[in-house]
Amino acid sequence: MKKTRSLNCVFVGHVDHGKTSILDRIRGSSIAKHEPGLITQAISDYTIDFKTIEKNCGELIKGKEIKIPGILAIDSPGHAAFTNLRKRGGSLADIAILVIDINEGFKPQTHEAIEILKHYKTPFVVAANKIDLIPGWHNKNKILVYNLNAQSESTRKLLDNKIYNLVAKFYELGFNSERFDRVQDYSKQVAIIPLSAKTGEGIPELLLVLTGLAQKFLEKDLQVDVDKPGKATVLEVKGERGFGKVIDIILYDGSIKENDVIVIGGVDNAIVTKVRGLFQLEGNKLKKEKRIDAASAIRIFAPGLELAYAGMPVKIANKDLEKIKKEIQAEVEEVLIHTDKAGIVIKSDKLGSLEALVNLLKEKNIKIKKASLGEITKKDITDASSDNNELNKVILGFNIKNIKVPEVKIITGEVIYTLLEEFDKWLIDAKKKIETKQLSSIVKPFKIRILHGYVFRQSNPAVMGVEVLLGTLKTNVALLKKNGVVLPEIKGIQKEGKNINQVPQGENVAISVQGIIVGRQIDEGDILYSDITENNFRKLKEMKKLLNNDEVECLKEIIEIKRKTNTLWGV
Ligand code: GDP
Repeated sequence: MKKTRSLNCVFVGHVDHGKTSILDRIRGSSIAKHEPGLITQAISDYTIDFKTIEKNCGELIKGKEIKIPGILAIDSPGHAAFTNLRKRGGSLADIAILVIDINEGFKPQTHEAIEILKHYKTPFVVAANKIDLIPGWHNKNKILVYNLNAQSESTRKLLDNKIYNLVAKFYELGFNSERFDRVQDYSKQVAIIPLSAKTGEGIPELLLVLTGLAQKFLEKDLQVDVDKPGKATVLEVKGERGFGKVIDIILYDGSIKENDVIVIGGVDNAIVTKVRGLFQLEGNKLKKEKRIDAASAIRIFAPGLELAYAGMPVKIANKDLEKIKKEIQAEVEEVLIHTDKAGIVIKSDKLGSLEALVNLLKEKNIKIKKASLGEITKKDITDASSDNNELNKVILGFNIKNIKVPEVKIITGEVIYTLLEEFDKWLIDAKKKIETKQLSSIVKPFKIRILHGYVFRQSNPAVMGVEVLLGTLKTNVALLKKNGVVLPEIKGIQKEGKNINQVPQGENVAISVQGIIVGRQIDEGDILYSDITENNFRKLKEMKKLLNNDEVECLKEIIEIKRKTNTLWGV
């Protein structure tokens, strides 16, 4: 039997911007009849049925036909629930509500949410929450548009400015957005609905925009055949006293019954088990059922769920068990990565967050050697530290324990966005370190002259005064004569009786060189250069920006000397 399912709608946004409060407000007004007061406990999901929408929207909805049965509103407790609403090739959320505290504006998790919404191409509306905190705000009427017009001039300006700031930010991120009552084309513009979870203003408008969008653009997607075996995704894995692990799933297609055989994606093998108990999740209450149709949030009691992870696919498999097992594992294998190739290691406690991380890193052209679930193991550390590239000796961990080890850098976090930011910072630092190390082993061009009257020792070692004409004079660098003859390395440099390692252009110092005799290989007044090998020359060419004009000049003179004996030198 075909039917129109509820709209899967997920709340995303920065912590404390009001996701739960908005959901509570919607629910609160609908169940106030049965239970006095609002439910303040964190709720992970709730079906807002049509009646609630009708009740909330009041006169706004008059004369409008609502065809969808309701909204399955999924709050994202923690930060990663949205990414776990994954299904192959996308998200099972039809639409998202991005909650932004209008007074605080964009925050790290706001960015993260947008990145992920963008990646999954999930349409969204913006709930610009906490308008009651705008200085001078008065809650005058339940209908927002009237309220907006009833504010003082200065308050209205303040609100407009705050919305404009959001619009400008969205523009930077490639989105065209507008206050919902000024939106001209909902298929091209993101609607911003100013609201307050505290006073309830704007909540009816939010629901109305959602249902309107769903009916206009998503109606076809909402058709499901509830007689088909169910398809779902694990939203959360929970411990249930006396029962071990249970799972909360979002069923997005078909139906599920008691005693159904279910297959859940696993890290190594698919988990096969039988549904012992089936409960519709209604806020913080559980309602036992024999059968549940899509779309629904469901808690499943079944044995053998210890190795289940959030984000894993679930399928009913009363028939075709082996085929379904294979299909499910193939889907999981699309996210998990095991290669022998060079790259970094990433870990997460949830499949969805791991997938989001993999995707965001791929967009940045970062190579991944291994992407897997669970805490960091010795094998992960060996895999990361065995990479030849220093820049790959790193493990990124989402929502897992950080451990300090000398072999590799481990970066962990609970927000994908900040985790990636930290990784970027580390990468820049690590690149700099490598460059500096490489640079210190590269000989740069310099030119010196042996001063007249300053030969302190003729040999063993020869010690003489020199003037640095071009570049920076350094120890442990072999010398080159104008005729192309290479002399031994400079052993030491002294200035005013002190040993130093380098001398800038223009200064006079004493140098010592083993294995030469002044008067034989060299003489007072001779010009000497740093000896540069062809290999070294090629590296210098790559790092040209590291040479100043005098050094470039000096290098030209060295090339000229080298090419007198070898015309193809350095080519
Ligand atoms: P979440 O972390 O995004 O789920 O945020 P919560 O819903 O838990 O809200 C965080 C805090 O902001 C709580 O103290 C709420 O009471 C408060 N809050 C949420 N919405 C509003 C609002 O519209 N106005 C005001 N004044 N406070 C709000």
